[in-house]
Formats: sequence, structure tokens, C-alpha cells
Amino acid sequence: NRALVWFRRDLRVDDQAALYQALKSADEVFCAFILDRDILDALPREDRRVEFILGALQVLDEDLRQRGGALIVRHGFATDEIPRLAAELGVQAVFTNHDDEPAACKRDALVAELLQSFNAELRTFKDHVIFERREVMTAAGGPYGVFTPYKNAWLKKVDEFYLSSYPVERHAQALAKSKLATGVPALKGIGFKPAGLPSHVSQGSRGAQGLLEDFLNRIDEYDRRRDFPAVKGPSYLSVHLRFGTVSIRRLARIAHERMQGGDHGAEVWLSELIWRDFYHQVMHHHPHAMTAAFRPEYDAIRWETGAHADELFAAWCEGRTGFPLVDAAMRQINQTGYMHNRLRMVVASFLTKDLGIDWRRGEAWFARQLLDFDLAANNGGWQWASSSGCDAQPYFRIFNPTSQSEKFDAEGRFIRRYCPELADLPTPAIHAPWERAPLDMQGIDYPRPIVDHAVARERTLERYAVVKRRD
Ligand code: FAD
Repeated sequence: NRALVWFRRDLRVDDQAALYQALKSADEVFCAFILDRDILDALPREDRRVEFILGALQVLDEDLRQRGGALIVRHGFATDEIPRLAAELGVQAVFTNHDDEPAACKRDALVAELLQSFNAELRTFKDHVIFERREVMTAAGGPYGVFTPYKNAWLKKVDEFYLSSYPVERHAQALAKSKLATGVPALKGIGFKPAGLPSHVSQGSRGAQGLLEDFLNRIDEYDRRRDFPAVKGPSYLSVHLRFGTVSIRRLARIAHERMQGGDHGAEVWLSELIWRDFYHQVMHHHPHAMTAAFRPEYDAIRWETGAHADELFAAWCEGRTGFPLVDAAMRQINQTGYMHNRLRMVVASFLTKDLGIDWRRGEAWFARQLLDFDLAANNGGWQWASSSGCDAQPYFRIFNPTSQSEKFDAEGRFIRRYCPELADLPTPAIHAPWERAPLDMQGIDYPRPIVDHAVARERTLERYAVVKRRD
């Protein structure tokens, strides 16, 4: 019998659940990826992610060919292409991994229905997270709404079974090559232009391997280094986790083992991986929160709108708010498709609580810019910062962009990297250049602050008063 593996956010051959299950149960296994026009048609023509995906597909195709298979790549609508391919290849089942985003759930339900009409089935597996859906629930049987008890339950449940790899190699002889596998198209072939991936973005599963090796040399220092954007502290693996060019089981296993050996850095890093699972289960249980406030009372907040708000929003997007750390962070995301976690929190707080702009506008900007854009994590992060989310920051906790800068980029190294016009300012002045005498700022083309933080803070407390009674 024959099977088709439909790759989506799992672009690797090692430890891949759907691939393993297909190889184990069929004699001939074909592999495919659909460049889905339902997703791609809405993107700007220079989207960096498309370039990343094509690079990852190239590596995936090579890895499959080395094992006797090959990747079929189609550009079209997945809901047309998958049933069509299944029919052309004469497969009895299509194997794929869960994607719990609301739009993906709808797509998969439709594909399953179409496959059924000619007696083929869609078989789906967990691959993207350690625990999903209803796997970690409270004693009362409901989903967790607070991270720490979720994390404790996660750690209690996790064991070797959940962390061990799927031994794909053991059954790789079932991989089959179809004449439909004609290689990975070029960007131009699917109507996109090069976006210029930053040179540090390493491609495909081989790139992920390199980053992981590098990170493992400093994972024990993660807890001490991770908050400082000028320091190489985090793993930079987020884009690989997003597209599955690295296995979450492999990462969680390494972190868990090291944690048990007393490595505090690994323990804190594992906690971040658990946040990732947490937000995924939030998305599954509360799909409404992907477009509205998780806590509905927060949708009563009146955000700033109109021409002035649009100007403020544009200044934020373009990194010209007059707050150096905020501007450096926004230039980082725009130039590289990545932003350091501390800075994501700082700029999200700045947009919602200093500028009074709806978190959904910031969320959408991140969704367009981030290579690692992930609906569950991005929405979770934005709703955390705007205080409307599940286990979010209290609304009265308002980051001061200047003290964040003094604390987390004390020497201004990160600011100098992305705001070179400020590079020559003495360190104490780089966090608040508006405090310098105008004469000292002569010749420096840098905006004055677009908002007064102290005034904005008061306005935000008033704005959030509509939810105060319930907090
Ligand atoms: P590391 O510090 O090495 O962490 C390892 C991995 O843990 C990350 O790759 C990521 O998969 C996961 N992780 C870490 N922190 C979080 C978190 N708070 N929530 C969920 N998962 C986490 N992360 C995304 O992957 N995609 C997004 O679209 C995204 N948007 C965000 C938006 C906002 C406003 C905020 C505050 C955070 C967002 N995050 C998002 C979470 C976090 O900022 C990034 O995962 C992290 O900066 C990626 O860098 P890294 O791989 O070097 O992280």
C-alpha cells in the first residue's frame, strides 16, 4: 500500500512523527510540500519567510533523495493539490502533523472530507509541541489559564516516552521517488522576489543543527545572559521551531536532561519551551483569542484612532519614536526579521501603553516582519503585554522605556548597532538623548520623543479603568 506525507511546519527527516508513521505503515511513501496560495497570495512579494521555506525545502529534498525518496513541491491551493496528488499517486492515506491554528484546522477538515470521497483518509499526528490540546489539564478537567501551575503539571507528566525521537531511519526503505518530484522551484518561479535573508539566518535542518551546537556551548549561562539584547544569550532557534527544521522533542530532551543534572540555564530555557506549549494549548482551547481579547472585558478599552494615532503607529513601525531602545528594536525586526525577547516586550508595551494603540495593530506588524512568526506565540506575547491575555502582565505594570534601556542595554551597545546616528553619544545620554542640550544634539538626525512617558502612563491608567473593577 501507498501513502503520502504532507509536510507543513515540520521540514526535516529526522524525528518527524507523520513521516515515521507513514513509513511504518505503508510499503511506498511519497513526500510533498504545497506552496499554499491561500497563504502566499496575501504576502508581500519580498517576504523573507518564503525564501527561508524554499531553502529549507531544498535541504529536505536532498535529505529525502539520500534515503531513496524525493520531495514533490506544488504551488497552488492545498485543498486542491493534496486530494489531486493523492489521486495521482494512488495512495490510501495522507499522513500529516497537527496544525492547530484555526485556519489550518478548517483547511485540514476540508482536505479530510475531499480525500474521503475517493476512500483515502487523512491521518494526523502530534509533532510540533511536547503536549497539545487536552494532554495537560487541571484536576477539574479544564485547560490551565495560569502558566506556573501549567508548567508544574507539564514537568510532572513529561517522561522519556514524550521526549524520545521517532526513529525514521529504521523504516526509511519505504521512501519512494515519484516522477512528479521535479525539484524545488526558485523564488521567481512562484512570483516572489529575494528579500535578502540576513547572513546569520542559517537554512534548513542543517542550519538548525549548527545553531543548536553553538547554543549548547552556552546554555548553562542562558538564565544570566538572555535578557540583554547586545549579548549572544538566547538560542536563535525560533525560526527553526516554527518551520520544524529542528525537532522540539530533541530540544526539550536535551534541556530536560541538563536540568536534571543541575544546569540552571537549561532549566530556564526549558521553561521557555514550555511557554511555547502553553500558548499552543491556549490557542486550541480559546480560538476566539486569536482575534479578540482573551479576557473579553479588555475589548471595552478605547484605543487611540485617527490620523494622529496613524502617525504614531508609523513612527513606531519605522523605528523613529525618539526612544532609542524602542527604535533600535524596531529597526532590528525590520532589517533582520528577528527581535530579541526583552525588546518584544518593551516595544509591545510601548505601543499599547505609551501610544495607546490597539495591540492587534502591533501584532499584525510583527506577523508581517518576523521570520519566526507563530500565531499562538505572537498573540500570546501581545496579549501578555497589553494585559488582555491569559496570565498576562497586570495592566498597571507599565514598562518605562528609558529605565528598560538603562537596565538591559546599559552601555548602549545594542542601540549603537541599530541607531548609528547616536553612536557617538556618551553612554549615559544614549538612553534619553532629549535630555541633552540642543547644542549637543546638533548634527544628529534623531527625532524628539513622540510622547511623554509620564503623561502617557497616567492616560493609560485611565484608559484601562474600564477593566479595573474586574482585575
Ligand atoms: P530562546 O530564548 O532561545 O527560546 C527558545 C524557544 O522557546 C524559542 O525559540 C521559542 O520557540 C520558545 N519561546 C521563548 N519564549 C517564548 C514565549 N514567551 N512564548 C512562546 N514561546 C517562547 N515567539 C515566536 O516563536 N513567534 C512569535 O511570533 C513571537 N512573537 C512574540 C511577540 C511578543 C510581543 C512577545 C513578547 C514574544 C513573542 N515571541 C514569539 C516569544 C519570544 O520572544 C521568541 O520566541 C524568542 O525571542 C525567540 O528567540 P530565541 O529562539 O532566540 O529564543
